[in-house]
Amino acid sequence: MADSLHSKHGMPLDEYRRKRNFAKTPEPSGERKPESRTPRKPETLYFCVQKHLASRLHYDLRLEHDGVLLSWAVPRGPSLDHRDKHMAVRTEDHPYDYGEFEGVIPEGYGAGVVMLWDSGTWQPEADDVDAALEKGDLKFTLDGYKLKGSWVLVRTRDRPGTAAAQRGRSWLLIKHRDHWSGALDITTFAPLSVKSEGDFDDILAAEMPALWVAARAGTGGAPNKLLREVVAKAASKIAERERTTQPPASGQRRAAKRKPPQGR
Ligand code: MN
Repeated sequence: MADSLHSKHGMPLDEYRRKRNFAKTPEPSGERKPESRTPRKPETLYFCVQKHLASRLHYDLRLEHDGVLLSWAVPRGPSLDHRDKHMAVRTEDHPYDYGEFEGVIPEGYGAGVVMLWDSGTWQPEADDVDAALEKGDLKFTLDGYKLKGSWVLVRTRDRPGTAAAQRGRSWLLIKHRDHWSGALDITTFAPLSVKSEGDFDDILAAEMPALWVAARAGTGGAPNKLLREVVAKAASKIAERERTTQPPASGQRRAAKRKPPQGR
């Protein structure tokens, strides 16, 4: 029910936890109690966008609110062009600690590579965020590395026949016309991580899951061209790294190989 998305009470991270097996994913469990967080002034509310190469590439926009991260999955990513209306699917609230996460989800829900694509602070343009969410019209300002200025998330009407669990989840992300809007394609212009400064294959090369090496086809054999390319690039970066950081003994063997013995 849409109620669970909008509830201020109860356990807002239930859905987040239900979907994940924390023995198998490096994602934070959000165990830290919301009370342990020091209340922050509105101007220091955290926001991030995680570029997530899963079964499909998308950008997860997350806005800190009441100790958790309100979340929307934006398949095409944010656009700085005020004429664009990009679909944004409201997803389950994420734990606050998720906001800095970047890494590899080896299997299960969301399996793939997560890049911290942008981060910074956000400010709601209305006093009551819950009322704005209820109304389906949340205006806000972002101050990130890549995304700045005024934006709006507007809930759209559900298409007839939308399953109960999906109702109320369909929104549009729109840039307001301001100093920070324009025709620049920000996802192409600034594709890399604000945390590691690398691309997906760099993140993957740092922690390639053993089962991906075995399968070499990405996540549980899911056919995804982009992910397969990223896995292949990461594999060659790992191979290159192993060539250049080999122990002395094998180094000598390699040096010997370069000069084949005479008479062969
Ligand atoms: Mn995602």
